[in-house]
Formats: sequence, C-alpha cells, structure tokens
Amino acid sequence: MKSWLSQVLRCPRCGSALELASQLARCSACGPYPILGGVPVLVADPSGYCATFHDAILATLAEQGLADREAVAVVDAFAEGRTESPQAFGDDWTSHEASGGVAPVPVKGAATRALKSLLDVARDDGPARWLERRMHPVKLALEVGCGAGERSELIAQHAQRLLVGDLSLRAVFQARARAAREEADVEGVVMNAEALPVRSGALDLLVAEHVVDLLDEPFEFFTRARKALGKKGELLVTTPEPSLGFGEDDAVEQLAVRAKFRVKERRDGLPWLRINSSRFVECYLVQALALVP
Ligand SMILES: [Zn+2]
Repeated sequence: MKSWLSQVLRCPRCGSALELASQLARCSACGPYPILGGVPVLVADPSGYCATFHDAILATLAEQGLADREAVAVVDAFAEGRTESPQAFGDDWTSHEASGGVAPVPVKGAATRALKSLLDVARDDGPARWLERRMHPVKLALEVGCGAGERSELIAQHAQRLLVGDLSLRAVFQARARAAREEADVEGVVMNAEALPVRSGALDLLVAEHVVDLLDEPFEFFTRARKALGKKGELLVTTPEPSLGFGEDDAVEQLAVRAKFRVKERRDGLPWLRINSSRFVECYLVQALALVP
C-alpha cells in the first residue's frame, strides 16, 4: 500500500486514522475493513457489504486474477453469519463505456443529420467537455462514483495523486486501470459517497459526475464533501436529475448551499448522449455546478 493512502484515508464511521496492512485496514475504535486486491473497502458496514456482494466480489477478483485463497478467506470471514440477499454490483455501463472503445455508429436514416449535429454539440459542449475545461493542476483529487473510469484518465492528467472511488469493486478496478495509463499516482477505494472515507481538508478536487441523483442521502454527501475539501478545494458536480425528483431544478444546488458551498459556476442543458447501440441513443440534458467552500 502506498504511504500517502494512510495519510488520506479515514474510517468511514468515526473519521479516525486507519492502520493499513496488506489485507486489512483497521480503525482502533470501529474494527477492521477488508483490503481486496489492494483496494480498501471503506464502507460503514463492511460485513454487510461482503455478504451482499459476496459472489460479485469473488467474480471480480477472479476477473482480475486476484481470487487467491487468502483474498477469498478475507471475504468469507467478513460475510460470515450474515444473511443479506445477494446482489450484483449496480454497474450500468454501455459496452463502449466499459471498454473505453469507440461508440457504435447510429443506423443511417431520416435522423442521421439531426443526430450528427446533436452529437457534435454533445462533444463540444457536453458535461465531459465542461469538466475538461474546469480541470487545473491539483495535488490530490477524488473521483466519487468513478464507474468504468470514463473520466478517470482526464482527472489523472491533472492530479498528482488520484483516488478513484465507487461502491462497486469492479468499477474501482476498471477505473484504476484506465487512470493508471496517465502520470498520476492512482489508487482505488470502495466507498459510499455519503460517508467519504478521507481526512478533513485533504482534497483539492472532488469530482462527482452523474452521481448525486443516485444517492439516498445527497445532503450527507455535500456535508462530507465540504469537510473533505481543503480551503482552496473545488467540487465539480454534474447531474441529469438536478431536481432529485422533487420538481424544482435547483434541488441539488440548494443542498450544496445548505452544506455551505458557494456556487462558482452553474451551467444547464448540457447534452449528454449515451449511444447504447446503433439503434438506441439516450439523450440527457445535464446541469453542472462548480462549488467551492
Ligand atoms: Zn472508526
């Protein structure tokens, strides 16, 4: 484990420092957390996590060639005695998002010209381009909800150190591998966005792309994010659902302001196109917020 990780990572329950070994991270007050394939699993209930995602974790470790006897024993030990119903990781990636490859070309027809111009706008003025424009050199960045790592490479180009975080262990491995192609020192952590397991004031940049609308407790996320950012830190949020289902399109912004963030920039209507296949194109109009303490 890299030494800077122990300076940055904290217990998701009590915020204390952690003692990191090869297979376990330990909080002196709350107990151990597993480390799987070099990825600390810093969620409030690590046993529940290992029980719920038991088979998904083992399949992911096997995909990575990391399902050795010791790793399996760690997962089993945490899951033991728990009776959670098994779940798969909630990875929602199109095949090219997962592979980092080129998106399929939509079938030619009456919509071809309109689609092409929409795709051009999405490329030149979509949420990905907005994030790119807001990037600047930072020491430590955390990408929360990194998914398949579509944006991890971009962030890694601007951060000396990058932590990619997600609730899915598979996502963390994937994003870590993609970002590791860049110069940055990249590490991964399984975490819950509502309980960021990092030291207060540690982060220079926090990126949450299309994440806040998926959270049960988005206000908790903003509160923790405010704490985790240094005085000159910045939180970049994009969301296709800024109302959070409440009807008003400034619900996310209001939560951020309540958590004592100041809105530095707000953009709306940024087109985000997801080409699932040559016949299935999704279009979201995304809100983007640059937030500072
Ligand atoms: Zn603790």
